[in-house]
Amino acid sequence: MASILEARNVRYSYSDGPEALRGLSTTVEEGKKIALVGPNGAGKSTLMLMFNGILRPTSGEVYFNGQPMKYDSPSLRNVRRKVGLVFQNPDDQLFAPTVYQDVAFGPVNLGYPKDKTERYVSYALSYVGLSGFESRPPHHLSGGEKKRVAIAGVLAMEPDVMILDEPTSNLDPAGSEEIMEMLDELNSSGKTMIISTHDVELAYRWADLVLLMEDGKLLHYGPPSAVFADHGLVSKARMKLPAVMEIYQELKGRGVLDGDRPPRNILELTNMLETRAKVGCPKVSPGKIYLYNVDRADLKEIRSFLDSGSAKYVGAMGTSAKMTAEREKIRLDFTFGVIDKSILKATTGQSSLIMTSGGMVEHAMRRIEAYCDEWGAKIQVSVLNASVPNDPEK
Ligand code: ADP
Repeated sequence: MASILEARNVRYSYSDGPEALRGLSTTVEEGKKIALVGPNGAGKSTLMLMFNGILRPTSGEVYFNGQPMKYDSPSLRNVRRKVGLVFQNPDDQLFAPTVYQDVAFGPVNLGYPKDKTERYVSYALSYVGLSGFESRPPHHLSGGEKKRVAIAGVLAMEPDVMILDEPTSNLDPAGSEEIMEMLDELNSSGKTMIISTHDVELAYRWADLVLLMEDGKLLHYGPPSAVFADHGLVSKARMKLPAVMEIYQELKGRGVLDGDRPPRNILELTNMLETRAKVGCPKVSPGKIYLYNVDRADLKEIRSFLDSGSAKYVGAMGTSAKMTAEREKIRLDFTFGVIDKSILKATTGQSSLIMTSGGMVEHAMRRIEAYCDEWGAKIQVSVLNASVPNDPEK
């Protein structure tokens, strides 16, 4: 796979500070979800600012799409459009008197005509679930809403890469999960996602690749299960192991579990334990998972399905599905971690319905299929409205 961003032996010193990056090299492959993990002061924000051209390395080079980054104004404008950066604190990013003006800032700066700007702003705000917030002053919004406005501002420029510095800081657990799910959705539409975080639990279950940093250097770069298996490096970076990994290692140490593939989440850990404990357990026949594509609107169908009681649980994945559920007054049992929760329920014989939009239907099917292949489970999946054409109004 092509690398979209690359740092080659980059160094950076702030004029009045220590050397923040000390000869760091790394590549970011297109379409991946990357988490930069490390303690305060490790250089994560500095690397992010370098990836979108705000900082220029003191030495070494940054490559974007295989070309060395240039720092003249037109080149920088292009990089900043293609590599969108969302700051940790939305108050550093939002400055216009209204949400609309804030989100429109990028498109207006790019010289888009009024109608195109309006289209992009309306798309970005509806994507982050803030349609109707156009005339609100950003500074009166909640932390989660401000974060969404900042994300919409970046989205309105149609970036290929989105970089988010500590995307879940100051958000409550459900708000954090919703933001991470939105990042997943953006990733499955093809965007490369880079986040920084201290939250090892989040990095462990969300990222394809973890880049562990300390003191301006790269300690380890690889899949989360490999990076977090290295206890020494993780504590060198003043991080702790994700709970699932720690429990796995404890159980392995006691001979309860074996193998070299640590579980990524509670679902996988539960399965490993169940497989070990299963001898003599009665076999439960799995529940089903129904998928409903909210872009193919035939809400009568979903109503009669829900009335039939075929699914005990209902989850919504992504903003438009959550909005549909709210509009149709459909009670939701799961609003985050929806696929894993539905699989967990299926393994205990109960059925769930997942409401989601277009591309995420295939994503959910792939995820369930991969789970069944790996664990030898037989969970039936059906798309309720596969034959209904897309609603042209959406
Ligand atoms: P992280 O994002 O991992 O917390 P940073 O990239 O913010 O790390 O910081 C790396 C180092 O650079 C730290 O020692 C920090 O104090 C220093 N630093 C960051 N920003 C500035 C700045 N604007 N001026 C001077 N020093 C800075």
